[in-house]
Amino acid sequence: MESGERPRAAVIVTGSELLTGSITDRNGPWLARELGELGFEVAHVLLVGDRPDDLDAALRFAVNSGCVLVVTSGGLGPTADDLTAQIVASFAGVELVLDEDLREHIAGILRGWATRTGFGGPALDEANRKQAMVPRGATALLPVGTAPGLVVPRPGGPLVVVLPGPPRELQGMWPAALEAPPFRELLAGVPAATSLSLRFFGLPESEIASTLREFDSEMDLSGVEVTTCLRRSELEVDLRPKPGAAVLAAELHGALAARHARHLVSDDGSTTDELLARALLERGWTVATGESCTGGMLASRLVDRPGSSAYVAGGVVAYSNTAKTQLLGVPAEMIEEHGAVSPEVARALADGARERFGADVGVGITGVAGPDGGTEAKPVGYVCFCVTTGDGLVLARDPRLPGGRSDVRERSTDLGMHLLLQAAAPRRAE
Ligand code: ATP
Ligand code: MG
Repeated sequence: MESGERPRAAVIVTGSELLTGSITDRNGPWLARELGELGFEVAHVLLVGDRPDDLDAALRFAVNSGCVLVVTSGGLGPTADDLTAQIVASFAGVELVLDEDLREHIAGILRGWATRTGFGGPALDEANRKQAMVPRGATALLPVGTAPGLVVPRPGGPLVVVLPGPPRELQGMWPAALEAPPFRELLAGVPAATSLSLRFFGLPESEIASTLREFDSEMDLSGVEVTTCLRRSELEVDLRPKPGAAVLAAELHGALAARHARHLVSDDGSTTDELLARALLERGWTVATGESCTGGMLASRLVDRPGSSAYVAGGVVAYSNTAKTQLLGVPAEMIEEHGAVSPEVARALADGARERFGADVGVGITGVAGPDGGTEAKPVGYVCFCVTTGDGLVLARDPRLPGGRSDVRERSTDLGMHLLLQAAAPRRAE
């Protein structure tokens, strides 16, 4: 590792069920984010089945690519295919030994489980014993479920942190892993992660690329690592300065924000959801939704945040015309005249939701999600949005959104959030 460079880490996720596609890996991305925030450069996230040779090969791959830390997930349970502790012990060149205190601790957990479920006896004792086998010299991490984790130093590196597969257990054990002395020691030598971020809405990646090219011709940007990523219809730009380039990164951050101010959502890492929650709370506003094609996705997104009861009044999924009319007071003649997917109906949905729920701001969404139902005038992806407030603000949009049914519905939810943010924080209005 050159001085000032970020140390490399690898994540090895184990589980044959992840390779068949029957479940989606949640631990790799979670660990990658955590490690990145700690200041590591995550060099690899590897997925391997429950096969000893494959896990061993992955560990060796991490060594060969210069990783000082490897975090594994899965394979710590009591069954025969749970082999991680054994493989990691032989990778570290040590034997497994029974940790008597740990066995007692797990036995206590298992006794409670046996009483509740009626399973017990020799099978459980055997499972108990297996899970208390610890590589010599390793630090055991107390179970969050029944499987303990391990922090295993290997002479010459890397340090291997072994965590259980169930995401709740893995995440619950992470703070204890960070506190384990060998991990703490390693972390002491990791330079703090400094990254500056920008979030834009409605700005294509090519615009950022072209701005960067232009700036690059004026100043040398090689000291800043720039990554861009599209997420939730937003362009996220991350700027990581290499050693000595903090001032340059700050200048670039400011210049990009200023150049694309019209599309800037935040320059301090805040998400749209956070900003909207903050804006609604500051104004003391409540919000109500009248959704058709998004089928409640916007309401669901709004209540994702803890504490949302302070500003979410409620919502109606008014999918059929009858529901639009009966539940939200959209005039049947309006639907007849303009069609269920029309700016007029979107407005009526917003007003209806706001009035029915006694809310301060209402949002209406109606569109053609596809794959059928498109016409020349109103093709698949045509979605009408309207946000109205009690004090007379009306924001309306009727874009044609790209993609298939789920893309259209997801993008509609994103756009609904942004229109709400514009309404609640008018200083950001175009
Ligand atoms: P257990 O004692 O539960 O067996 P374990 O450490 O052996 O713990 P695994 O057997 O690898 O864990 O996984 C147990 C279950 O946890 C899996 O069947 C799956 O439901 C969930 N799980 C494991 N790994 C992941 C992952 N990477 N992403 C999402 N879920 C996972
Ligand atoms: Mg298991």
